Amino acid sequence: MTLWLGCIADDFTGATDMASMLVKGGLRTVQTIGIPPGGFENIAADAVVVALKSRSIPAEEAVAQSLEVLAELRKTTARRFFFKYCSTFDSTPAGNIGQVAEALEQELRADWVPFCPALPVNGRTIFNGHLFVGDKLLNESGMENHPLNPMTDSDLRRVLAAQSAAKVGLIPAKAVREGADAVRRAIVSHRRSDTHFSIVDCVDDADLDLLGEAFKDLILVTGGSGLAVGLGRAWVKERRVEEHEDPAALDVRDGYTAILSGSCSNATLGQIAAFEASGGLTLHLDPLALAKSEEALNEAIAWAAASLGYEPIAIVASETPEKVEEAQSVLGVERAGQVIESAFAKLAPALIEKGLTKLVVAGGETSGAVVSGLGVNALAIGPEIDPGVPWTQVVQGEAEGLCLALKSGNFGAEDFFTKVFEILD
Ligand code: ADP
Repeated sequence: MTLWLGCIADDFTGATDMASMLVKGGLRTVQTIGIPPGGFENIAADAVVVALKSRSIPAEEAVAQSLEVLAELRKTTARRFFFKYCSTFDSTPAGNIGQVAEALEQELRADWVPFCPALPVNGRTIFNGHLFVGDKLLNESGMENHPLNPMTDSDLRRVLAAQSAAKVGLIPAKAVREGADAVRRAIVSHRRSDTHFSIVDCVDDADLDLLGEAFKDLILVTGGSGLAVGLGRAWVKERRVEEHEDPAALDVRDGYTAILSGSCSNATLGQIAAFEASGGLTLHLDPLALAKSEEALNEAIAWAAASLGYEPIAIVASETPEKVEEAQSVLGVERAGQVIESAFAKLAPALIEKGLTKLVVAGGETSGAVVSGLGVNALAIGPEIDPGVPWTQVVQGEAEGLCLALKSGNFGAEDFFTKVFEILD
């Protein structure tokens, strides 16, 4: 296997989503957290998706980080590059989509770059250059109130034009509907008229497949995860990437299983209730006790050590909003979160020492804390559990071999915790 695609993603869950879609397109894919200590040369995959946290940082920093990743990726056999951002084009005039894309374009001498955040399965479509969320324009979808990246204009041509010096064009739905050749002709005419950036209309999955075919030879593509499936398929068809019987296969090791949950979302609370109702063994952590002394954490580790054989088990801090507020009123919002995140970051390695080989973590921040507690650098992407949440396996870092499922709060069906381990079997 030789690396073919290097992808730079502007946040962690977006990177996982992208990686999962590439696997669906037929590519064996590894997600890394930034640049791993040994660079990308030892990554055994067709595609690597590098997760940055560059969506809402100052544009110069986002550009510098992205260029640093690109330089490392170019030391490998990768010949195609992708810049992945959110399907709602999360950015402001200050950045960072246009600024990062412009820097990557110049570095790669790409000459023309498509922008297509469409993800039709989640209702994100683009028509006449305007981004829709379901049947609403982006700026009437609730995204206009986003705390970090308020999206007040659905016309992506204007949004992008404010973020770069490039002339911005449109590949309209009509061209996309005519087929890959029509799109290629549009690309040629945009290049001739010095239009280096173009928003690309896309209203359904058939369009995405066709765009994969039309973009397969471009050195740089930018967009949402939707484009990944069509691109992957086109590369496999062309034998740029070898065909795998199961691109999502993981080398699962025997051992114990556990769930750690710091998410207090409604979805997670429902999933925990379903898990308990089905006979799952659960330990509830008390943030006040954790804040008081190390004793509470040691007790949790001892409980886990004694319970790991009685699978499945869960250790949860997840509580109803009233209970969360109670803890926050005593400890303060930030400290309450920190106490719990730090407990999970210590619990995870302690459980691995006791023979844990499969771990599920619920909560975005909680996942971040566990991943850094475990010193994870790179994850191979495995089978999907629910939309947007795949099983992964640590391929670099101290916890190498551990199967890990990281679930953001609101993701997953109610039976998530009861079915999650079956998917690995
Ligand atoms: P989600 O993805 O659902 O938003 P996160 O892990 O990102 O979940 O965020 C949940 C936050 O709530 C974390 O900082 C976590 O430490 C904190 N938290 C979890 N349980 C409690 C609790 N019982 N009291 C106070 N804060 C909590």
